[in-house]
Amino acid sequence: MFLYRTLSELQHYLNSRRRLGEQIGFAPTMGALHSGHLDLIRHSKVHNACTVCSIFVNPTQFNDPKDLEKYPRTPEKDLAMLESVGTEVVFMPPVEEIYPPGLETTFQLDLGQLDKVMEGAFRPGHFQGMAQVVKRLLDIVQPDRLYMGQKDFQQFSIVGHMIRQLTLPVELVMVPTVRETDGLAMSSRNVRLSPEQRAAAPAIYQTLSWAKAQLGILPTAEIEVEAIRKLSLPEFRPEYFQIVDGRTLLPVVEPATHEWIVACVASWVGEVRLIDNLELKR
Ligand code: AMP
Repeated sequence: MFLYRTLSELQHYLNSRRRLGEQIGFAPTMGALHSGHLDLIRHSKVHNACTVCSIFVNPTQFNDPKDLEKYPRTPEKDLAMLESVGTEVVFMPPVEEIYPPGLETTFQLDLGQLDKVMEGAFRPGHFQGMAQVVKRLLDIVQPDRLYMGQKDFQQFSIVGHMIRQLTLPVELVMVPTVRETDGLAMSSRNVRLSPEQRAAAPAIYQTLSWAKAQLGILPTAEIEVEAIRKLSLPEFRPEYFQIVDGRTLLPVVEPATHEWIVACVASWVGEVRLIDNLELKR
């Protein structure tokens, strides 16, 4: 496994692989890795001779400085985990390498409704920062395929939109959400839950599963209201529970007229903000 911290070393190595006609798969992460992240690598290794994982806690996508400061960082453990699944290349750049002074990396992308709803409404600026870093990383790595998790469904939609809008030459691949045995979606933030909060957190997945069972029985608006009620547990502060079209992320009123329906949820559990989603129909 090769570890690069500068863009020039990384590109020098990747060019040598490209000259051999090899394809490159890429999984961007913010570190504090878990099995969900490793699944991105596993998927990439099936289709690409060379898999690159980046670890970069992107300051521009944190709208809350406290969240950035508290974001878990476990670089040594991350490297051991990446090595264990046979990652070829790890890119761990310092901030100056991604955002060098003088380089224009900000661009306003027309994301339509996609970045206004759900996460976009509660985390202003988050998706412009996320799109900015993904674009910058794609420019640097120039992968054939980009692997992203279903766990961050809205993020996946926005990156897909950006790729189409800018006609970037990369195939976006969605990797299903990896869950703990009790249903809690794996997340780097889970380590910040207290034992009591951790024990209660599977209520999020249970509520998503309940919503799936209710689709077509109860009106969607009622499912949403009842889901918020179910999540109003001690230490929980649900921000939204929305049943949306999987393509447009707009609210679903009449499920029969949509082919792809996803329920998306965000809730604080103590000091930790968790998000999850579940396909209700596809
Ligand atoms: P993060 O480090 O949280 O920014 O996530 C990096 C990538 O890993 C994103 O594409 C996430 O959607 C994906 N990811 C995070 N958690 C999971 C999970 N539990 N299952 C699948 N993919 C995940």
